[in-house]
Amino acid sequence: MAQIHGYAAHAAGAELLPFHYDPGKLGPREVEIAISHCGICHSDLHLISNDWGISQYPFIPGHEIVGKVAAVGAEVHTLQPGQRVGLGWQSGSCGVCEWCLRGMENLCPEAEATCVHRHGGYADRVRANARFVLPIPEALASDQAAPLLCGGITVYNPMRTHGVNPSSRVGIVGMGGLGHIAIQFAHAFGAHVTAFSTSAEKEPEVRALGAHHFVNTRESKAMKTAAGTLDFILSTVNADQDWANYLQALRPTGTLCFVGVPPAPVSFPAFPLISGMRVISGSPIGSPSRLLEMLDVAARHGVKATIESFPMAKVNQAIEKVKKNKVRYRAVVTN
Ligand code: NAP
Ligand code: ZN
Repeated sequence: MAQIHGYAAHAAGAELLPFHYDPGKLGPREVEIAISHCGICHSDLHLISNDWGISQYPFIPGHEIVGKVAAVGAEVHTLQPGQRVGLGWQSGSCGVCEWCLRGMENLCPEAEATCVHRHGGYADRVRANARFVLPIPEALASDQAAPLLCGGITVYNPMRTHGVNPSSRVGIVGMGGLGHIAIQFAHAFGAHVTAFSTSAEKEPEVRALGAHHFVNTRESKAMKTAAGTLDFILSTVNADQDWANYLQALRPTGTLCFVGVPPAPVSFPAFPLISGMRVISGSPIGSPSRLLEMLDVAARHGVKATIESFPMAKVNQAIEKVKKNKVRYRAVVTN
């Protein structure tokens, strides 16, 4: 097989440099994708700077991939060369553990990530196990669909798990790549949707995406008026916050769910948990079957990422803009 060309980090926090590698022989259950689009998820930035202590260099980041099937392994009968497909954070699992058999492959202890200890999607091609390579519905444009493969599933899955419905009052914290998609899914579920943001200038766009209410979290008074108003709060923020405020914003039996990864351990007073039976939880991406469902819902309800597109060669420029919280709302690199 020909070499794969991409952009790799060679040290923690370093600029990405052109890089190529030999992918070897295509495995019998593998698919090779010729990449057209790849979203820049904040998890890529965490990996580049080794925030989670799991990065190995050099590595090519990128795990919100859309492209065409370039080749399939001998045992792959579900996908054909030329077909448009997507690949998200997860590229493999053991397939035989309790969690895989229950259709919760995202909880498999052997789960393999598309760009952890292997090379991801800021490249011309990428490989993954065929079970994690999914057809993209025709109604979705490739550039707007790529961010759904990680950002979209990460916010859709917990809303499904926690039963968000038309009676729910939902809060979404952080209007970035994940948050702006979460607003749209919460709206599609029929919930009353409140956006929490540090960026007052995002209010008109976020309301247009489906938010009924906008809280500027830089105003402490605004946070106080949110007390006791919400059933489900999804935090997509990658920074430390006064999390007790969000616990206060929950109604009795409400849930605060983390998908964003703040650097410091989160801590809470016990009393609001006890008195109101409030719950703190978290959620990782979603299974292939949930991904298929999410893509179908997105196609039917018009959920799509608002994107800023960059040629692959300008990936460092795109990353800098994400770091500064200047992208509206997801950067996508294209080949
Ligand atoms: P992003 O596009 O950079 O958006 C993050 C948003 O958080 C920003 O747009 C900003 O929204 C808010 N924010 C940033 N700095 C802040 C600060 N200092 N204080 C308060 N708010 C701040 O990032 P993303 O791609 O959506 O990813 C968000 C997080 O989710 C990352 O930690 C990522 O690793 C994690 N993630 C988790 C999973 C999972 O499976 N659980 C999957 C994907 C990503 P405002 O301007 O509105 O305040
Ligand atoms: Zn991601």
